[in-house]
Amino acid sequence: MLTGPRRIEIVDVAEPDLLPGSCIVAVERCGIGGPDLVAWSTGEFPAPAWFGHEWAGRIVAVGAGCDDRFVGERVVGAVPPPCGRCTPCRAGVDTTCRLVLSMILGTDDLADSHGAFAERIRVDARRVHRLPEGVDFADGALAEPGAVAAHALRRAQPSLGDIVVVVGVGAVGLLVAELARLSGAGSLAVLEREGDRRELACRLGADAAFGSHEDLMRWLAAQGHGLGADVVFECAGGQDAVDAGTEATRTGGTLVLVGTAPDGARLRAATLVAREVTVRASLGYTIVDVHRALHLMADDRFRVAELHGPSIGFAELADAFEELSERPGPRPKVLFQPR
Ligand SMILES: [Zn+2]
Repeated sequence: MLTGPRRIEIVDVAEPDLLPGSCIVAVERCGIGGPDLVAWSTGEFPAPAWFGHEWAGRIVAVGAGCDDRFVGERVVGAVPPPCGRCTPCRAGVDTTCRLVLSMILGTDDLADSHGAFAERIRVDARRVHRLPEGVDFADGALAEPGAVAAHALRRAQPSLGDIVVVVGVGAVGLLVAELARLSGAGSLAVLEREGDRRELACRLGADAAFGSHEDLMRWLAAQGHGLGADVVFECAGGQDAVDAGTEATRTGGTLVLVGTAPDGARLRAATLVAREVTVRASLGYTIVDVHRALHLMADDRFRVAELHGPSIGFAELADAFEELSERPGPRPKVLFQPR
């Protein structure tokens, strides 16, 4: 459990209560996500159940109102369809359903008192989604960031042959790059400081990877119409990355904000207006994005295995956060396995 800024404690907790409508999942893998790292460094997070939210496991018990045939199923943490009752749903904007958002943030009524850096967790039974055959638990733990990436692609709607740039290739950026390729990107480049991430991006299908903005701009000038990128995905979340992404977007192009920029980060309004750029923001995911990410993973078209290395146990968890805060590892996704 996260008990303060930069403080992880291994705590013995009671077995979770099996409440009606909930199920107990034996965690098999849980990824350390960017938001987990931010929570760790600040000690601030929306809910205890949120610290460790990229998980895959097996249902070991179901509460009243749930079909007990599902005991033993391999599942991942996902979200239910929009509730149809909250204010956004009733206003017809169900992509921002409050129930879905509460489950993403771990603030729903059935959320456990801790996240999935644990042996077992209790979750709302509507949250779990079957892991397709042929997708193992380690890959399944990437279904959540995979769904975030799938959502960004749906928000961007790139066209066949588009020149696409991804700024920042941590796990989500790499997954976005892969899906952009699958969606028909003509030329695909990434901008990333870390050399091993750039290599990984190229292995996963990027045509080019650059450590400097100037090199990216030179490459863009030589691509197709030479105006810049048709679609830019900003997946790093810093001011520099937002600026680099804005600069790379062509006149009439689309800039998609996926990374969580700090409060007060600025968009260059004059440049965006002068170029008539479409700006789209992408937050979280819906059940549709989970379906699509898992379907493409099961088909072996969306390859996520190269993103994660060997799994770590309870004893190594605190050190893993320390190490990740100092320098991102060669594989962007560190997986926890309870042992
Ligand atoms: Zn709703």
